[in-house]
Amino acid sequence: MIKEKESSKEQMNVLERTQEVIRLALERMHYKQEAYDLVKEPLRLLTVRIPVRMDDGSVKVFTGYRAQHNDAVGPTKGGIRFHQDVTEEEVKALSMWMSIKCGIADLPYGGGKGGIQCDPRTMSFGELERLSRGYVRAISQIVGPTKDIPAPDVFTNSQIMAWMMDEYSRIREFDSPGFITGKPLVLGGSVGRESSTAKGVTIVTREAAKVAGINIEGSKVIIQGFGNAGSFLAKFLYDEGAKIVGISDAYGALYDPEGLDINYLLDNRDSFGTVTKLFSNTITNKELLIKSCDILVPAALENQITVENAPRIQAKILIEAANGPTTLKATEILAQKGILIVPDVLANAGGVIVSYFEWVQNNQGFYWTEEEVSNRLERILKTSFLNVYDTSRKNDIDMRLAAYIVGLKKMIEASQFRGWI
Ligand code: GLU
Repeated sequence: MIKEKESSKEQMNVLERTQEVIRLALERMHYKQEAYDLVKEPLRLLTVRIPVRMDDGSVKVFTGYRAQHNDAVGPTKGGIRFHQDVTEEEVKALSMWMSIKCGIADLPYGGGKGGIQCDPRTMSFGELERLSRGYVRAISQIVGPTKDIPAPDVFTNSQIMAWMMDEYSRIREFDSPGFITGKPLVLGGSVGRESSTAKGVTIVTREAAKVAGINIEGSKVIIQGFGNAGSFLAKFLYDEGAKIVGISDAYGALYDPEGLDINYLLDNRDSFGTVTKLFSNTITNKELLIKSCDILVPAALENQITVENAPRIQAKILIEAANGPTTLKATEILAQKGILIVPDVLANAGGVIVSYFEWVQNNQGFYWTEEEVSNRLERILKTSFLNVYDTSRKNDIDMRLAAYIVGLKKMIEASQFRGWI
């Protein structure tokens, strides 16, 4: 038996929550305590302080992190988040989720993640560039194309990746496109990377709808969040004939049972996905989650579905496009209600899968067509969905635990072969 945590499920922070599901998954696979001790925390965590000259001449010092969960399978991989609520625990948990995503999709990586405590919405272009370059200088010793490969995450984009790649290339004194993914196309980005998270969510939504007996065409969908994942997803599902009845941003939500005009919203949002400010008839994010729909997609931040709102959720399928939107207790409540949950580590793996394609193309210096990218993405995600779904059915467990079982296996075996455990 692997030792259990003391704190009650609902009070667990994101790191403790992740550790609890890892513990249950390893126990099911009959691994010993030492396997758990190895993977319950990242192998490395670097905390950095980044001085940035602001436009008004003052200097502001930002705190940033880079966590590397486990590199038994290969280099670590995962995005960098710019957000005022970034914490050490969050970055650690996010790096562990990356490991599990890479395991499910069978990519030759372990998980990594970075974050900087800042609010990019209040910063100028120049300040963001200096912050991005400062962060790369601060973490340059532990990252690199064969060590740890960053990418975009919440509130970071291809422009930020471009500055970071340029800074890294200057430090190393050779062009290093494979240092980071999610770059602009002209700097070695992959076709299809920008919309890949949402493409992936669309593919798993189709698979989930099939097993739940729902027709996407005509189905009612609510998407919480209108950033990179949420906005592209709204477009893709709308184009497949779904009715997008609700969307939201950080300031509020829109709900219309007849369906929203997605093209208008896409044309009028800003680069941070803000659009609800244009409307007066908004509701809150909390109210949106419990509105009537067939498919509910949290595509924003952690801890949105909790014991408080889980009993009132009306959806038939929950697709976690965001990382960590549902607490463990809420997962139990939804599973009891018969709601099919497609967990984050499976639902949003499309981003890192196409990041992997980008890195392969950078290493080869040979670029693929859009068709090659989307066919390969589809193949990997369909197989991943089936593996997780079958594991959940065979063992009579929820999809989250099943996903962790599938996702941890390769990392533990690789650690054993290396003689680490
Ligand atoms: N930040 C994304 C994620 O959470 C993408 C990571 C990557 O492309 O490496 O999966």
